[in-house]
Amino acid sequence: MLKKQRILMMSDLSATSNDVMRHTPLVIATRNPGKTAEIRDVLKGFPISIKDLNDFGPIPEVIEDGASFDENAYKKSSFTARILGLPALADDSGLCVDALGGAPGVFSARFAGENATDAQKCARLLEALKGEKNRSAAFECVISLAVPTGAALTYEARCEGIILEAPMGANGFGYDPVFYYPPLQKTFAQLTREEKSRVSHRGKALAELKEEFEKVMIWIGQQMPVQEKFICKT
Ligand code: IMP
Repeated sequence: MLKKQRILMMSDLSATSNDVMRHTPLVIATRNPGKTAEIRDVLKGFPISIKDLNDFGPIPEVIEDGASFDENAYKKSSFTARILGLPALADDSGLCVDALGGAPGVFSARFAGENATDAQKCARLLEALKGEKNRSAAFECVISLAVPTGAALTYEARCEGIILEAPMGANGFGYDPVFYYPPLQKTFAQLTREEKSRVSHRGKALAELKEEFEKVMIWIGQQMPVQEKFICKT
């Protein structure tokens, strides 16, 4: 059962929170410019500047060894927020196949070995499901937005589909060519990026974040330490 943790109360936007937000960027905990562009696109129009790890010097890598998407997303967001002293957003996602007891799940990226190509990952999945009648599966995504104190907000979404017996389509990445989405009668790899974003796990989780982003900005402003002004007297 997916849980959802949302901001329930709208508080007044104080002058302090407002001021903090004007000067505080949100860091996307990724070095993937595609992911940053997607999030920047979703949050355009909000008065906040978006940065990613490429805007900072080298920082240690987070080991994604959590047992759930939730754990991994929080590890990445809270580590980045603490180390940079800024609010940070991270996502973790993957494919859960019913007949495989939820695998590959958090191992989706490494299912066919550390450096496997997307085609090899799909082939490994089809091999594991050979002869299997139950082909139902779901992509899941967790987005975690943390502040340096460790407090965090979580957004989760899933998208259900069927694993085909052979790949179809050339768009997308990862398991898209073998993931058939019945409502549109196409695989994710046969959809345009916009079509996929409207229904995908990541698209839906980002839409939830966007829906309450005004409140999220207030929350960030309230959580961030206020820099005291002081005068030096000689
Ligand atoms: P990440 O958490 O976004 O890095 O995703 C982990 C792995 O899950 C990726 O390497 C893909 O293999 C798989 N995955 C996640 N989202 C998708 C998707 O939208 N389409 C296909 N594969 C995905």
